[in-house]
Amino acid sequence: MQLHVLQDLRRKLGSLSEYELKEERVVAGDLVLRDVSGTVSLLRTDRGLLATIDATAKLEESCARCLAGVLAQVDVRFQEEYVPLMEADTSARIYLAEDDEAFRIDTEYWLDLREGLRQYILMSEPSKPLCRDDCAGLCPVCGADLNAGPCSCQPETDERWDALAGLKQEMDEGK
Ligand SMILES: [Zn+2]
Ligand SMILES: [Zn+2]
Repeated sequence: MQLHVLQDLRRKLGSLSEYELKEERVVAGDLVLRDVSGTVSLLRTDRGLLATIDATAKLEESCARCLAGVLAQVDVRFQEEYVPLMEADTSARIYLAEDDEAFRIDTEYWLDLREGLRQYILMSEPSKPLCRDDCAGLCPVCGADLNAGPCSCQPETDERWDALAGLKQEMDEGK
């Protein structure tokens, strides 16, 4: 997910180049992606390169009910402008306004797509992935995986409710 873009930066305004993305595993901050494949095109702009990413990947997640590992399919489509830290021809340092939040191409002319990817996926990831549609989840009392069968603490739950009911009765009587 890192492209060496010195040649792209030396192209004239409006030039377009395309790269294939294909990586088995990408770690983007706290996200882990598998089987990333797609394309990225780079359009030379007056400031830098406008990257258009069109890819698919599988995001490592946990089932929202039982916490088992899940690979969630994600489509990744975003466009970001990347601005170099140094001029490609003169190596002169390029300074941006303090509040300019553009992604930067580093001083060795590497364009790193991972942070953009991470931000995009965080905004668009499926909110509650399930290991399967009918996942039974975990018992809220003992934490047992109910996909493996019922747990043994069901009676205890009932006793608790009895205790609570008794308490409520005492309170009512005390009034
Ligand atoms: Zn599950
Ligand atoms: Zn249980």
